[in-house]
Amino acid sequence: MGDEWMVNGGGFPAAERVRLMEASSTLAVLQAAERLRAAGQRVLDLGAGEPDFPTPEHIKEAARRALAENFTRYTPAAGIAELRAAIARGLNERFGSTYTPEQVMVTAGGKQAIFNAIVTLIEPGDDVLIPAPYWVTFPQIVTFAGGRNVFISTEANAFHLTAEMVGETLTPRAKLLILNSPSNPTGSVIPPTEFRRIVELALERGCYVISDECYREFVYPPHVPSSAASLPEALRERVLIVGSFSKTYAMTGWRIGYAVGPQAWIREMIKVQSHSTSNPTSIAQKAALEALTGPQESVAHMLREYQRRRDFLVEALNSVPGIRCAEPEGAFYVFPNVRDLMRARGVRTSRDLEVRLLEECQIALTAGVSFGTEGYVRLSYATSLGVLREAVTRLIRFAHARA
Ligand code: PLP
Repeated sequence: MGDEWMVNGGGFPAAERVRLMEASSTLAVLQAAERLRAAGQRVLDLGAGEPDFPTPEHIKEAARRALAENFTRYTPAAGIAELRAAIARGLNERFGSTYTPEQVMVTAGGKQAIFNAIVTLIEPGDDVLIPAPYWVTFPQIVTFAGGRNVFISTEANAFHLTAEMVGETLTPRAKLLILNSPSNPTGSVIPPTEFRRIVELALERGCYVISDECYREFVYPPHVPSSAASLPEALRERVLIVGSFSKTYAMTGWRIGYAVGPQAWIREMIKVQSHSTSNPTSIAQKAALEALTGPQESVAHMLREYQRRRDFLVEALNSVPGIRCAEPEGAFYVFPNVRDLMRARGVRTSRDLEVRLLEECQIALTAGVSFGTEGYVRLSYATSLGVLREAVTRLIRFAHARA
């Protein structure tokens, strides 16, 4: 041991729970792309995990109104009462649930909701089941909380989680299962009947469930948005829903999301939040209220646009030698298999491919290994069709170049 950890930590004696965490690998790509851009190169950014649309005007207007009215003070830690009520009502009306405002808390993005949820539940020695590929942040928070990540590979079933897969992996120490449908990075959706079987099984084994529904609104026909809120009340006893305004209303920078679930769990989460960020930003809460209760046309517009891009990109990627791309059912990512391309170009890992595509083609995308699955890459199509077309042209050129 000695003082080695101090050297590795650059001289700062970071706490072990933090030393074990890794910085966000998706942010690393963005930073590398930024450096190339600063050097005058035209980088095509397919790495971003956020909508390329501006926040709708009526939502911005609500924030301006809140400012004008000096709505600029602390709010209750769990969020303003009107917003908590609107979130509960929104789920109840659409999915037939019976949530009360006390079962809702507003957070600084879905990410803070997930953080609050995991640190209130997980103790050292607890297992947390995470289907892979997974959103990069899940295992990092589990590590921070001292839990052990147990991954469930879904690759063999085209990235669709089943109750059988969960059953085979459930360990005696499993305390939490994290579901994310539609999924970041694969865009796959768990059908409602399978979702219910998975939750039933988790509950039978005394396991809690987080249902990360940040991409709920972005599913493509014939699929329709679904939620854990539509489960019977008895099944929701140990289920926490996480939602976000970031993707649905193009509000990533506002940092506003929510958690809905068992009141006892929410109460503990509010305690954590009250001693960390105190409350989500006051004016962002007013904007979120308008987002939920105002016109919804912008959501339908974005969905149509994402679908056009998805349809183009899936077909175009399948024309690139060495790439095989399944059609995602939701979110705004594709997660194609690039093993043949890697083999043909003498690239060993998806991380190496990520670096080479950035350096040789100025395409920023994210290695599959970041999401726990080698041999794949994630491309975000939250960007213009023009950029997507150019990216595919460059990929074809890369595929045809000699190894
Ligand atoms: N969950 C998933 C699967 C995500 O991809 C993201 C953001 O990329 C989030 C949660 C958190 O989003 P936010 O904190 O902006 O609401």
